[in-house]
Amino acid sequence: MAKEIWVYAQKNKDGYAEVVGELLAKSQEIAKQIGDCIICAVSLGENVKDDEKTLGDLGAEKVYLLDHASLKEYRCDLYGEALQKLVQKYEPEYFFFGATAIGSELAPTVAALLKTGLAAHCIDLRYGKDRLNCMVPAFGGKVVSEIYIPNARPVMASVRPGILQSEEPVKYTAEAVKEDVSYLDHAESAEEFLGFEENQKGTNNIEEADVVVSAGRGITSDASWNALKQVAEKTDGAIAWSRSFIDTGRVKDESSMIGTSGKSVKPKLLINAGVSGAAQYVCGITRAKKVISINKDPKAPIFAYSDYGVAGDAEKILAAVASKL
Ligand SMILES: Cc1cc2nc3c(=O)[nH]c(=O)nc-3n(C[C@H](O)[C@H](O)[C@H](O)COP(=O)(O)OP(=O)(O)OC[C@H]3O[C@@H](n4cnc5c(N)ncnc54)[C@H](O)[C@@H]3O)c2cc1C
Repeated sequence: MAKEIWVYAQKNKDGYAEVVGELLAKSQEIAKQIGDCIICAVSLGENVKDDEKTLGDLGAEKVYLLDHASLKEYRCDLYGEALQKLVQKYEPEYFFFGATAIGSELAPTVAALLKTGLAAHCIDLRYGKDRLNCMVPAFGGKVVSEIYIPNARPVMASVRPGILQSEEPVKYTAEAVKEDVSYLDHAESAEEFLGFEENQKGTNNIEEADVVVSAGRGITSDASWNALKQVAEKTDGAIAWSRSFIDTGRVKDESSMIGTSGKSVKPKLLINAGVSGAAQYVCGITRAKKVISINKDPKAPIFAYSDYGVAGDAEKILAAVASKL
């Protein structure tokens, strides 16, 4: 019998989370290597009954639809139990989640209910030598470990959004499996849904900003840091940084760091200042529409990933740009 690869189809207010498409595309890649496999999406909610078309376009061959009023809003206990029952009924081989706020709670809940293994916050999934290796950064991103789950099934993994690189997925007219979830008619949740609050713009949300100005180790002086902040302020942009910039001591937190162990950004305009262009950094900027980089070294690798390059001192150039703005 064909093995099933499942992807949890997280639905947000304006449609499926982007990571759902990323996971389905990656699942197609893995399926090619395994052979006899079916790519499935699992969608829970109220009025998800016709969603197989959308998920088929994203690369699912089969879609499990769990449609019930009590699933209207995400609640971990109800969603967890519904997914546990579904897995026990159909026994998929793999089950992938986006490591979003919801996925990072739901995936370990389901894994614990099923007593199976979960590799959390992966940056890649690589199939080879008859096993799936889940790539997970460890020790603050200084190493990447390979996690392999030998016996427990399904193998579960949560993967950071915006980081997987896959080919354009094949679209399918997906088969819809409408599950009977009448057991939820009398379900009680320990959680009460109070409301949904979106991240406010202007809170340095580097994943949503139209303009991102990113600092690397080359931003050394107070003057260059101030000039960079001015450029961000005048463009209504968010400020991001590389891992090495944290080492300069100007910032501490990793929540605005770009890269494999940080975040992936997709602004209309990204300005890199004093960033060399290490592989672990550039994998987080591949979705930026226009990239301008400033580096004093004309041979810096970052220029190969940029639409425009300025070879020169970051402080001088940023100050000039800020004054023009
Ligand atoms: C497992 C692993 C995971 C990692 N994950 C991440 C990650 O998620 N994100 C990340 O960023 N890194 C990550 N790293 C680290 C990564 O390998 C690089 O070390 C880091 O990205 C380099 O940051 P940088 O470009 O700011 O610094 P550097 O590589 O030191 O580059 C500084 C650049 O600034 C330029 N410069 C210096 N002075 C000036 C000036 N006055 N004006 C203009 N330019 C100037 C220099 O020419 C140089 O190119 C990871 C590493 C490992 C091993």
